[in-house]
Amino acid sequence: MDFTIQAEQQELMDLVRQVVDEEIRPRALAMDQDGEVPDELWTVLQQTGITALAVPEAYGGMGLDHVTLALLFEELAKGCAGIATACAANMLALLPVLIGGSEEQKQAFCHNLLQGGMAAFALTEPGAGSDAAAGTTSAVKTDSGYVLNGVKHFITNGPLADQVVVFANARKERGVRGMTAFIVDASLPGFSVGKVEDKMGIRASATSEIILENCEVAESARIGKEGRGFPLAMATLNASRPHVGAISVGIAEEALQRALTYVHQREQFGGKLIALQMVQQIIADMAMQVEAARLLVYQAAAKTDAQEKNAGVYAAMAKCFASDVAMKATVDAIQVMGGMGYSRESGVEKLARDAKVMQIFEGSNQVQRGIIANGIK
Ligand SMILES: Cc1cc2nc3c(=O)[nH]c(=O)nc-3n(C[C@H](O)[C@H](O)[C@H](O)COP(=O)(O)OP(=O)(O)OC[C@H]3O[C@@H](n4cnc5c(N)ncnc54)[C@H](O)[C@@H]3O)c2cc1C
Repeated sequence: MDFTIQAEQQELMDLVRQVVDEEIRPRALAMDQDGEVPDELWTVLQQTGITALAVPEAYGGMGLDHVTLALLFEELAKGCAGIATACAANMLALLPVLIGGSEEQKQAFCHNLLQGGMAAFALTEPGAGSDAAAGTTSAVKTDSGYVLNGVKHFITNGPLADQVVVFANARKERGVRGMTAFIVDASLPGFSVGKVEDKMGIRASATSEIILENCEVAESARIGKEGRGFPLAMATLNASRPHVGAISVGIAEEALQRALTYVHQREQFGGKLIALQMVQQIIADMAMQVEAARLLVYQAAAKTDAQEKNAGVYAAMAKCFASDVAMKATVDAIQVMGGMGYSRESGVEKLARDAKVMQIFEGSNQVQRGIIANGIK
């Protein structure tokens, strides 16, 4: 496969790099400390289209393929993985609408994102994490639509989203085959944001509970048929996981670059750290692993674009491998930077805290290994 970066892709990468250098990286440490994103940064991200990267051309967006999206999420994550996650969550919410929604739903959802709106994908519940099929949020049919009740937790963009794709069971007696997806407007009565998580990393990305208490939605809010929710959620995650990989590569590349700069400057025992063979080994391993992860992400994204049958297995590989690489590379970067790496001031320990969640969300890496083992032929 040829992964030569095309001129149009390079232009977009340069645009994102400029936003990262001028607007995101200078604010990253403060956003990490405060757990808040300044309004002026949201405005930049919305005006540059970065919050709506995945909107297809037919609905007024840039129509980017998954390979190009992966290139851009990697760039964003170099500046701040929390910001990259918040923007990627808009795509995560959009995907089920694009895969299973009606024309009207696609138009409306995309329009809102293009206007600077935010979105969320609400599958996980307190009692249903890795076992997502065990969700108990209910959707009871009425004459005009459905009444939703339940609690979702750990929802990225939960406090910010104006549209939330909620997975609820419309046919309890059918178990997981009753799971159904709905587009829920956050302004509806009965919709509220519960506990906002105080997290270890990706602190610029807001994560919260979503509470549904007798929340009435119209029948037109249902995505596809009753009972199609679980396959829709799985198809969505298959398409999205390469981008968790891409964000992980961005974190790992940033760690590598910071470590490299440091070992070329820092002197001990009368010479630069980079001259020490044990330091060279750490740097060389980081460089090899980052490159291998990047290629696996491109491969998974290309297979997703081509709608290949085994794309989901590659997506699991890319997500799992790249996030493991990000975890290792960030801890190794701290190691070669010594006390300076351990200091908050360096920003490198933030990279390690940010990397950790990449091994957990969109299916933990244990779950990904299960998908790979069961899916490889
Ligand atoms: C910051 C953050 C943002 C998130 N954003 C979203 C979001 O936007 N939308 C959403 O729906 N969810 C979101 N999640 C939820 C996330 O997808 C779940 O946390 C994840 O799937 C794991 O579920 P759990 O936390 O309940 O862990 P559990 O399922 O309780 O797992 C705990 C441990 O057991 C292991 N384990 C579980 N099952 C198996 C198995 N079968 N084999 C081997 N090991 C296993 C896991 O790997 C893990 O190590 C987010 C989570 C976090 C932390």
